[in-house]
Amino acid sequence: MKNTDTKLRTQLLSRLLPVSAEVDIAIAGGSCTGVFAAVTAARLGAKCAIIEAQNRFGGTMTAGQVCYWHSLFNSDYSSQIITGLTQEVIDRMAKRGLIEFWKEKNPHWYVNLNTEELCCELDEMVIESGVLPFLHTRVADVLTSGEGTYVDGVIIAGKDGLSVIKAKYFIDATGDADLVRFAGGKVWRNSELQTSTTCVKFSRWPREIMAENRIGRMIHAAKEKYKMPEGVIWGADCCCSNTYMFAGTNIPLLDSSNQKELTEIEIESRRQMRAVADIVGEAGYPRPVIEAVPSLAGIRESCHIHSLYRITLDELFSGKVFEDAAGKGTYRSDVHRRDPPGTLFRYLDGTEILLTPCEPAYKRRWRNASLPTPPYYTWPLRSQIPVKFRNLITAGRMIDADAGAYGALRVMVNMNQSGEAAGNAVFRALDAGKNIPELVKTRNHSMQEIN
Ligand SMILES: Cc1cc2nc3c(=O)[nH]c(=O)nc-3n(C[C@H](O)[C@H](O)[C@H](O)COP(=O)(O)OP(=O)(O)OC[C@H]3O[C@@H](n4cnc5c(N)ncnc54)[C@H](O)[C@@H]3O)c2cc1C
Repeated sequence: MKNTDTKLRTQLLSRLLPVSAEVDIAIAGGSCTGVFAAVTAARLGAKCAIIEAQNRFGGTMTAGQVCYWHSLFNSDYSSQIITGLTQEVIDRMAKRGLIEFWKEKNPHWYVNLNTEELCCELDEMVIESGVLPFLHTRVADVLTSGEGTYVDGVIIAGKDGLSVIKAKYFIDATGDADLVRFAGGKVWRNSELQTSTTCVKFSRWPREIMAENRIGRMIHAAKEKYKMPEGVIWGADCCCSNTYMFAGTNIPLLDSSNQKELTEIEIESRRQMRAVADIVGEAGYPRPVIEAVPSLAGIRESCHIHSLYRITLDELFSGKVFEDAAGKGTYRSDVHRRDPPGTLFRYLDGTEILLTPCEPAYKRRWRNASLPTPPYYTWPLRSQIPVKFRNLITAGRMIDADAGAYGALRVMVNMNQSGEAAGNAVFRALDAGKNIPELVKTRNHSMQEIN
């Protein structure tokens, strides 16, 4: 659309549509990432609204039923590197006994949270901090000015039909960069998107079939009959409940930022959930029963923004501490692939493990043994700032990272911090009356890189 058209459209829609709210900061998407962004900015004093398409906050963790948060510690567990709202949620959930800690020190697993009660905890945090919540509400479009560099408002679709939320600054925490894309920002995709896996809660799940990958072999044996694509399978007892969360559906190649493909992911996920229950039943166990179908498919990856700085695995795992570090982490690079099916793990100590279904794990080094293991990694806030915009920042899985770096950054203890960093940065911009990119030293991509 030409700039004059965009200007006219903005003027027209602003006149036609009612205004639902006028705030300092509007946050699109209410997973823990979006909630932490909103709560951070609101506690600092900004008037915030959060817009979430689902009936609850928490995103992949609540609506998607993924229950684990990874380590909050440095590589040798000598100090805690992640605190903030992640620790606050852990403490709040622990008060009610809704959390289980992993027994031994482990770089991968740390806590298992009750995902249903987490919805209630996040409601409380949003309300206590004075954030204006919009549930069952989707950001459907964007109003821009300044030749598309400034976002004036988001058009939301909810029970009252279409309306506008106006704000001085915006945070895109929609996972699929909806706000950036609607505002005309360009996005890119890794050559192979990580496989989607939708989690399901089963009752009557026979725990013993998780040992020695027996369930993996059952699915492998029935893969032709049930048309089951192969991939890594895992699961966990749901915290403080008798149900079992099973993460064993595999939907490769489809892109959740595309409406048609997202619909296919949802329907294919449910077909595979039932197939798994049938396969287990046919193996002689009482057939497991689907107890809860998530209202969000398990999306590991879709598009990434063109930001002020693309982070690569080599740089991330070198342990470089960026001047504008947005967060710290130690989670391994964890890339779910279709071909060969399975997962490639890369570790900060330079080793890697390739897991292929029903094959022995393959271990080797990906980095020279002479290089030291860094205590943790950091990523720059610049990787969350989309080029072109003055008052828009992102948080969450649309981060500008290559496939390997994204494999590490995508987990929730990191994405939570990206939310807090975005909330903090936008408050600083608001307070100083600055454009967001002015907060960091920038290295702008050339237009050639972006196109
Ligand atoms: C099967 C699976 C297992 C995983 N296991 C783990 C694990 O054990 N531990 C871990 O830490 N990480 C795990 N991950 C990764 C992690 O869950 C995600 O990478 C992370 O939650 C992404 O967070 P996000 O906030 O960017 O996106 P999302 O969680 O996808 O949140 C986006 C939110 O925005 C909302 N939204 C989207 N579009 C709009 C719109 N237009 N308007 C309004 N709202 C909108 C959505 O409803 C959603 O609430 C797993 C992922 C999968 C799929």
